[in-house]
Amino acid sequence: MLDANMKQQLQGLLTNLREPIELLSSLGDDAKSAELAALLDDIAALSDKVSVTRTDDDARRPSFLIRRVSDANVAVRFAGIPLGHEFTSLVLALLQVGGHPPKVSAEVLEQVAALDGDFHFETYFSLSCQNCPDIVQALNLMSVVNPRITHTAIDGGLFQAEVEERKIMAVPTIFLNGQNFGQGRMELEQILAKLDSGAEAKAAEKIAAKDAFDVLVVGGGPAGAAAAIYAARKGIRTGIAAERFGGQVLDTMAIENFTSRPVRAGASSACRARMPIATRASPIARTATARSTRASASR
Ligand SMILES: Cc1cc2nc3c(=O)[nH]c(=O)nc-3n(C[C@H](O)[C@H](O)[C@H](O)COP(=O)(O)OP(=O)(O)OC[C@H]3O[C@@H](n4cnc5c(N)ncnc54)[C@H](O)[C@@H]3O)c2cc1C
Repeated sequence: MLDANMKQQLQGLLTNLREPIELLSSLGDDAKSAELAALLDDIAALSDKVSVTRTDDDARRPSFLIRRVSDANVAVRFAGIPLGHEFTSLVLALLQVGGHPPKVSAEVLEQVAALDGDFHFETYFSLSCQNCPDIVQALNLMSVVNPRITHTAIDGGLFQAEVEERKIMAVPTIFLNGQNFGQGRMELEQILAKLDSGAEAKAAEKIAAKDAFDVLVVGGGPAGAAAAIYAARKGIRTGIAAERFGGQVLDTMAIENFTSRPVRAGASSACRARMPIATRASPIARTATARSTRASASR
């Protein structure tokens, strides 16, 4: 299933596994099940910390569970074959279930771990969907961190009957405990804000504890990012309140009229904007929606 180049790259990445993991497959007699079996065999052959077993214990076929051997609660399930845009999600799931630390702040990880409740997420994706990996990766990570969260990422192309039954019109579409939870690109912090009823009050407390800003920019799109960077580089104490950095650019496949540059992928432009913001302006709240602002004379 994987070509020699991909195998070599994946083998290198799998050296980051800290703990043994197992791939538990549920397969049918169809061609896609045979493809998935071949993919899982390929992965297992690349690391002595990965084993594969056919369990046929899940109704969705083909599907597989990635599970930590030492703790069965640490697991991520894919229904379908996560190649295409979801290959990165597969690699990250393998590594994180295997104990490799995620690149997320300790504060966010604590917030995920502290979520009180049982959350079973299902995400419908397609292999050509550019907005799907963010949500798949965020929910996979949450299910690795908190044993009361589970996540199944489902390739809608392979499970058409479900897509029709659940009236799914676009991907990604997310269900929580069987109910529609949302659609479209969402970041980990946005999911948390929807789940954690105390998140808004906690964020407000943190903001209130900060000194007043000379300039507060509302919104993290290109205009907000440019304004914040420009103000901060002039030494002005600058804050930025943003639900997500990038604004509409995150939903853009390619920007062709960026002067002096060839075509750029939308999300990559947004990520580059985030770097100078992080170093110069103070992002007072990543997931904040500003409802009102007021000037303060206190310094
Ligand atoms: C599919 C698509 C393709 C595009 N292609 C191109 C292209 O090729 N070339 C081009 O030049 N332009 C393109 N555009 C347009 C370009 O993306 C926008 O012009 C640009 O993003 C506008 O930047 P902005 O910062 O003014 O606003 P936005 O990008 O809309 O950002 C504003 C941000 O502020 C946030 N916000 C709003 N209210 C609040 C609040 N109260 N509190 C906190 N946050 C808030 C919003 O959530 C949003 O994230 C495209 C747009 C789309 C949707």
